[in-house]
This record gives sequence, structure tokens and C-alpha cells, in this order.
Amino acid sequence: MRQFAKGRPDLKDKEEILKFAAEIRSKMEAGALTGELRLPGNRPYREYGGVPMKPQSGRSCIKCGLCAKECPVGAIPYDRPNKTDTDTCISCMRCISVCPQKARSVSKILLGAGSMKLKKACSERKKNELFA
Ligand code: SF4
Ligand code: SF4
Repeated sequence: MRQFAKGRPDLKDKEEILKFAAEIRSKMEAGALTGELRLPGNRPYREYGGVPMKPQSGRSCIKCGLCAKECPVGAIPYDRPNKTDTDTCISCMRCISVCPQKARSVSKILLGAGSMKLKKACSERKKNELFA
């Protein structure tokens, strides 16, 4: 869903990150990072129900094993990289981005449904915020 947050992080983000780092540093030096962190949001948090998008590999897979190596949770077996352990997969899409054959993908139907959902929440530029 590369249509969302296209081009981010950009120069403005990078400038803000540097500002945040300076702010955190000065708070650390002043010993002001010890209190309870108050984060905005609706409470109680909802139970995470998982994301149904689990990539699978297609026929163009050459079993190079790169996706298995790069998967952060070990959801792709090294000896059978064309299989995905859907219970372990966290839908990070790293395997799709690293596959040299573009052999991995998620269901187009689910992708379409996910895009519709994100469109409402992510069409406008999101502001960076620091909570410290
Ligand atoms: S990175 Fe792509 S080509 Fe390599 S094993 Fe994984 S799916 Fe197959
Ligand atoms: S989407 Fe992420 S967690 Fe799932 S198989 Fe690919 S790399 Fe692993």
C-alpha cells in the first residue's frame, strides 16, 4: 500500500527527528524523563486481533532463502521458503520487499480491502509527535 505516506520519511521528517533527539537529550540531562508517560488514545485498548494478510510465494520463487533470512519472526522455513507459517507471521511485508524475484505477494482482495480501510485514516499527512 505504497500510496500511503509516499515519500516519507522526507526532509521535514528528518529535521523533526533531529529536533526530537535534541529535546530528549536535554530532558535526559535535566533528569526529566522519569515520570509516567501519558499517551493519547482511546482506552481501554482493543484486543489485537491480528492482520489477515500473510504473504505467500508463487511459481517464480527460486528458493534463494532471502525471505527466510530476513523474516523478523522466522515465519518462513529455510528449507521450504515457499511456505509461510501464518500463525507466526506478523504481516510486516519484509519478505515481499526483499524478494529478488517478486515472487511473494498477498491476496489482491485482502489488499484492496486493507487499502480502503487505510484510505480514511491515512490520506492526509500525519504529523510527527514526541511523547517524552
Ligand atoms: S526471496 Fe523470493 S525467490 Fe527467494 S526464497 Fe523467498 S520467495 Fe523465493
Ligand atoms: S510478512 Fe513479515 S513476518 Fe510475515 S512472513 Fe513476511 S517477513 Fe515474515
